[in-house]
Amino acid sequence: MGKLIDEDDYGRLRGRMIGILRSEYKIRSEAVLGAMSKIRRHVFIPEKERTSCDPYGDHPCPIGHDQTISQPFIVAYMTERLDLKKGEKVLEVGTGSGYQAAVLAEMGINVFSVEIIPELAAQARKVLDEEGYTNVHILTGDAYKGWQQHSPYDAVIVTCGPEEMPDELVMQLKENGRMILPVGVDVQQLVIVRKKDGKVSRENDILVRFVPMISGKVSK
Ligand code: SAH
Repeated sequence: MGKLIDEDDYGRLRGRMIGILRSEYKIRSEAVLGAMSKIRRHVFIPEKERTSCDPYGDHPCPIGHDQTISQPFIVAYMTERLDLKKGEKVLEVGTGSGYQAAVLAEMGINVFSVEIIPELAAQARKVLDEEGYTNVHILTGDAYKGWQQHSPYDAVIVTCGPEEMPDELVMQLKENGRMILPVGVDVQQLVIVRKKDGKVSRENDILVRFVPMISGKVSK
């Protein structure tokens, strides 16, 4: 067995991750890079996965229940493309580990996050509390319905792949609202939706691979 990794080692790995985001992936938002350089990404990955998957590596990692925490580049890229301002209200679909929610919270965003697997929602809540993120609200449920009570949102970030555009999420966007989501089966098209003057526009972006967005509904 290798030697134990301590917080200093994790700090160095985090620094290297930020370097790769800047130089290889051309992430430019200092707000995003600043948040990701502070957040202890490793604590969002269950301890038993942490030894076999480098939490700061350039890849996704398993978080249990057949789900994954996205590759750092994907988190940085999707967050950057939303062009967020401090104090905005964002709906996240798929809390998972809670890491993406922490990135948003660190940027001064009020985060409303919906997760369908109760154990993941509970684990994310625990880690976010321990790390001091009070501006993240989590709902256990099927996010195809969004989170109506707190809508409309300045932005929506979807971190699992629906087969088609979920209309209810578009409905819950504010005027001038933005949504970023992977659409499709197996390999998905990252799509940016914008609502302006009551009209909805759609821009196709890069190809990505996310876990599928599942529905709690028994049938359509
Ligand atoms: N944003 C997460 C990554 C989550 S992986 C992170 O930073 O770790 C995608 C998550 O979406 C999984 O946890 C999965 O359980 C959840 N999910 C899938 N379908 C869903 C649905 N219909 N409603 C809410 N969450 C869903």
